[in-house]
Amino acid sequence: MVAETELVGVLNISHPEADYFNDWHIRLLHIYKNMLGQLITNCRLFQQMEKKIASRTAKLQQALQDVKYLKERYESMSMIDDLTGLFNRRYFYAQAAVIISSLERYGQGLCVLILDLDFFKKINDTYGHMTGDQVLIDVAATLKEEMRDSDILVRFGGEEFVVVFTNTDCQNGFIFAERIRKSINALSWNLDDEQVKITVSIDMTCLDAAESSKPGINIDHLIHCADVALYRSKAEGRNRSTIFTQEMLQSKR
Ligand code: GH3
Ligand code: MG
Ligand code: MG
Repeated sequence: MVAETELVGVLNISHPEADYFNDWHIRLLHIYKNMLGQLITNCRLFQQMEKKIASRTAKLQQALQDVKYLKERYESMSMIDDLTGLFNRRYFYAQAAVIISSLERYGQGLCVLILDLDFFKKINDTYGHMTGDQVLIDVAATLKEEMRDSDILVRFGGEEFVVVFTNTDCQNGFIFAERIRKSINALSWNLDDEQVKITVSIDMTCLDAAESSKPGINIDHLIHCADVALYRSKAEGRNRSTIFTQEMLQSKR
């Protein structure tokens, strides 16, 4: 059997009777042999094509997986602070939207804390920026240790961190805030033969379960309220936790 110019098989036909095959049989066998040859070639082409498709599909799947991995990596990189490894402000706003929508549905207490290191500029100015960086790294690690899985901790910028406690009332939030403040007070660094310590001002704004289930909670407003309380903490001598009250907003105007 020949397909185009290639020999693709041999067809051996016999019959018990001598001289059985006549001209008509032989012509028919020629046609049959050509058809079989073509069929075999088509089968081979089909198999080759299937192999090619399988290999191209595998390559395509690999490429799609690579794209997914790179996308996830890029997304996580852009939400993580390089210096401390904590999530950053971008993550905070993405996550805040998720939390707020769940609050509106289930109504749980919420505490938003801003932590601002006291006189941090002095550390940079006295011991250098690299030391300042190390202090930020150590503070971040301490904060991380204090957090529960459900809490959110981000480096909000510079020497400021934001913590969100969900399902926590103001009283317990304050207890957590004070625990965090004391654990940062307990840190110390040996710099130029001196024990250097740092303090932090923590400011907290809370929503109770009834408030948090109302629609239209604005995370920027909560941060602003915590910021107002921060101003109070700093003015009153730093190294303290202050709970925001509406009265502070009025007295600042
Ligand atoms: P206060 O008690 O009023 O908060 O005083 P402070 O010195 O902490 O505040 P201030 O805003 O004056 O200074 C913050 C400093 O934080 C200034 C800036 O150079 C420093 N800083 C911000 N980001 C980084 C950082 O990534 N690394 C280092 N080393 N310093 C940083
Ligand atoms: Mg600051
Ligand atoms: Mg500061």
